[in-house]
Amino acid sequence: MSPPSFACDAMLGGLARWLRALGYEATFEHGIEDGALVEQARASGAILLSSDQPLFERRPVKSGEVRALFVPRHAPVLDQAVFVLHALGLPVGEVRCMKCGGALADVPKQDVVGEVPPGAFAAFDRYLRCQACRGVYWHGTHWTKIEAQRAEIARRLG
Ligand SMILES: [Zn+2]
Repeated sequence: MSPPSFACDAMLGGLARWLRALGYEATFEHGIEDGALVEQARASGAILLSSDQPLFERRPVKSGEVRALFVPRHAPVLDQAVFVLHALGLPVGEVRCMKCGGALADVPKQDVVGEVPPGAFAAFDRYLRCQACRGVYWHGTHWTKIEAQRAEIARRLG
């Protein structure tokens, strides 16, 4: 079975980014209307994530046609991510592009010439490219922080 994907409500953009970093595809659309979100989850088979109680009263959700999970609204985003993975019994997977959820692949430094700020290019040697949006990531301080947070989440999941 392929890992589940997620459809996040309009309040959960930060959670969508973190679910991608934890290895799961997650959609998020600013300002998406509840009906459109439910339909998107139904059509794609994604698990709907929402902090919006009325959304759980909609027929496709109530009937179980759309799988949905209520996410605590005011929890910090990393706590929300732990909550979702724990509730569904999911492990921390391979890191994916936080912008779009695409798979990341190591690329040689010469492939990213001109795509990375000069300071970062001078300082770092390991780069990853998103296979979907072509975005570039590098193993700098931001990446180190993401890796540490992934490890912390994996530890909390036991
Ligand atoms: Zn991407």
